[in-house]
Amino acid sequence: MAIVLYARKSVERENSISCETQLDYCRSMLKPDEKNEKIIPIVDNGFSGGNMNRDGFQKMMKMIRQGKIDKVIVYKLDRISRSLADFVNILQEFKEHNVMFISSQESFDTSSPYGEMIVKLLMVFAEFERTSTVNRVTQAYAHRSEMGFYMGGRKPYGFELVPTIIHNIKTKKLDPIPSEVEQVCYIYEVYAQENVSLRHLLDILVAEGKNPLNGSSWTTAKLSALLKNPIYVKADSDIYEYYERHGTQIISDISMFTGEYGAQLYGRSKHTPNDSDWSDMKLVLLTHQGVVDSDIWLKCQRKLEKNRQITNSYSNSTSWLAGKVMCEKCGHTMTTVKGKINKDGKIRRYFNCTGKSHKRICTGPKVSIYAENLENMVYDCIAEKLSELKGTARSAKKAEPAEMNNIKLKIKAVEQEEQQLVSAILKGGFNEELLALANQKAAQLKNDKLVLYQRLDELKYQNNEAETVVNLAKSWQNADYDRKKAVAMIMISKIIIAEDGSVKIEWNI
Ligand SMILES: [Zn+2]
Repeated sequence: MAIVLYARKSVERENSISCETQLDYCRSMLKPDEKNEKIIPIVDNGFSGGNMNRDGFQKMMKMIRQGKIDKVIVYKLDRISRSLADFVNILQEFKEHNVMFISSQESFDTSSPYGEMIVKLLMVFAEFERTSTVNRVTQAYAHRSEMGFYMGGRKPYGFELVPTIIHNIKTKKLDPIPSEVEQVCYIYEVYAQENVSLRHLLDILVAEGKNPLNGSSWTTAKLSALLKNPIYVKADSDIYEYYERHGTQIISDISMFTGEYGAQLYGRSKHTPNDSDWSDMKLVLLTHQGVVDSDIWLKCQRKLEKNRQITNSYSNSTSWLAGKVMCEKCGHTMTTVKGKINKDGKIRRYFNCTGKSHKRICTGPKVSIYAENLENMVYDCIAEKLSELKGTARSAKKAEPAEMNNIKLKIKAVEQEEQQLVSAILKGGFNEELLALANQKAAQLKNDKLVLYQRLDELKYQNNEAETVVNLAKSWQNADYDRKKAVAMIMISKIIIAEDGSVKIEWNI
């Protein structure tokens, strides 16, 4: 069996840490008894971490699949891949072939229970990243979209798709169906009025017999989707600003937002009706005329957003901490219950002891345990814990200023020696032999200095190197409900609520 030391240096970063230095770090991770095993250094020079088709990497995977390798050591996790999804897949393949995996910088060791837990966490977040891989696909379309092509998807109500040729490329464009467009405009106008809810709007349309002209019928979901679609708006600078504020990437230049053309939002395969986060989407102006004035369109968006907030606070009756919270007094689990509606129209959820509510054997905590407060608190604790998981990487970083300072001092000392040598030569009195020696000494000092500067650069680079693959703390910041729940399941054993309302978290690590 053999141990692979794997190093990769990317093309895009010129002054990144050299493969040789990476291999040195890897060698330092070898255990004394491993020094006699077959060590295979594999180097990929000039490959990016986004590309899996790296010669060395493929060679390593081939050996792994043949069962020839029992351990892989890297300098940093991102040497394997910069994509978390790819990284997790590779880790799984390692596991299938009983390959241990160790990273020197992150103190990552898959053979320890700690490493195993990190792998589980990584998988949770990798899933998250996978859902945004649509981005990559849309990049391929970026060029098309700049030219205002229709980006695909279902035919929007009010238009038909007609083949056309733009810039010598066959594509499709939207042509209005006047009778349908008239309905669309009416729907926007009615909904833009105060006190008209989606439900009202639906009732009005039904009462007036204004059914869709394609034979189907309206639902509040269909109406909501229609009202949110920028295909209908006469996109002007206000629309630009609106999407910019929502973090949408806007492909077309602002100068094109003249209030004439409709726009298309694209980039996500499924845009759920209640999802108002457009930060992973793109907006492009199309070539067809918009049909709804921007102020009316924006009025409708404000109403829809307000709606969304209310429905969200109603629907979220559970907590991502469900199943983990228990009452210290009786040992029973605590479950979420909806409270009364607050002044701001939101319903507060709180945790209730089931020993009290179901069995009447407990009086529960004396204070109300609001789910939101508890969630926020645990959220912060998990963030803290996740940043600790990077533990050694962080403490290694802390030590760096000291090492950098030390090297700077050494450089100073070398420079002083050089200076002394030069002034001694200038004073004269050197015979040829001594002069040759002095030159030799000067060359050596120069070399010392070079080595020290190289090390200094490495340290500097380490400090500002891009985010590593495993930045769990950062992934946590963007975690949605399901992710939070999954992470809490992995990391937390119990959350114990004392009678006075104080909280104790029992971690799985
Ligand atoms: Zn209880």
